[in-house]
Amino acid sequence: MSFAPPSRLTIDLDAIAANWRLLDARHTGQTAGVVKANAYGLGAAYVAPKLFAAGCRNFFTAHLSEALTIRPLVGDATVMVLHGILPGEAEIFTSHDIIPVLSSLPEIALWAAEAKRLGRTLPALLQADTGMSRLGLSAEESHIVFNNRALLDGINITHVMTHLMNAEIPEHPSNEAQYQRIAAFQRQFPGAKLSLANSSGLFLPPKFTSDLARPGAALYGINPTPGRLNPLTPVVQLHGRIIALREIPPGTEVGYNGVWTARRPSRIATVAVGYADGYFRALTNQAFGYFDGTPAPLVGRVSMDLTTFDVTGIANLNLGDSLELLGPHGTPDDLARAANTNGYEILTALGARYQRHYIGAVPRP
Ligand SMILES: *Cc1c(COP(=O)(O)O)cnc(C)c1O
Repeated sequence: MSFAPPSRLTIDLDAIAANWRLLDARHTGQTAGVVKANAYGLGAAYVAPKLFAAGCRNFFTAHLSEALTIRPLVGDATVMVLHGILPGEAEIFTSHDIIPVLSSLPEIALWAAEAKRLGRTLPALLQADTGMSRLGLSAEESHIVFNNRALLDGINITHVMTHLMNAEIPEHPSNEAQYQRIAAFQRQFPGAKLSLANSSGLFLPPKFTSDLARPGAALYGINPTPGRLNPLTPVVQLHGRIIALREIPPGTEVGYNGVWTARRPSRIATVAVGYADGYFRALTNQAFGYFDGTPAPLVGRVSMDLTTFDVTGIANLNLGDSLELLGPHGTPDDLARAANTNGYEILTALGARYQRHYIGAVPRP
């Protein structure tokens, strides 16, 4: 016998495909799909084939292991690894037709050695650090490469790449500064295209969007234009099952440490979702569940497996019903605000204990 978990996560793959099309229509270049971290927690094995069916032919993962997972699911599409290549991995890349983003001199050396071993030219993206001090060639490393082209023997740089640190703040001066640095870098590699924009970058002026955009979050419904109307379709719904309902008199404390006390006769719904499911403890006394669109305030501490909501006065609510914890009334961005984080962290933290329901799944190509 097997039992389904009590709470349910619904992932609308048709919405993800629609979001990809909307982002792709924003520019004339190519639009990749970033499916790292299991497609931001939503299931790369479902998301990648859906994006392929929508027309996406370029995929980015963070890790090589993630690229190996999606490689058989995306036909002849290009699969690229943002974290690049570590010693011992070159042959795994080439034997599975996976392309690294090269971000350092040692990585360039590994890829050039593999090209030499195979006796053919190998494609790669070349990342420059233009401001984040995280990944990418430093100015110093860049000059070493500019002045010693033999380092790149056997490597075909298809794109130069960098990552914007403030793309969601259009007026931030770092955007233009980073653009100028990557444009100067690109001039050293005639023939190489540019890959610059993440989700928010696609909402910057056109020079930022070419030639290969790399949206992730926006595909999954996160607002790439904070403070403005979200142009994307929501993707995720989370319904938490009510496994207990009780009436409590005024003065009664709820949950660990009694951080909430009833001021009136109250009805408390206990829902089978907690911080082990990615419903953050920081949401304590800060969020809402919804029943048929009626808000029910989260009361008391979020615990590992349970969260309590004040459902006083909500008609027709019964044991076994569910509260909407994410959905049309409360988006991942809303929940993020309540937990003092971002929508990315809300999605990638979604746990493994949900009944996962996919809308619009397609078979692998
Ligand atoms: C994660 C990532 C992206 C996608 O960013 P979003 O903000 O989710 O669109 C693009 N480029 C790089 C280098 C990344 O690490």
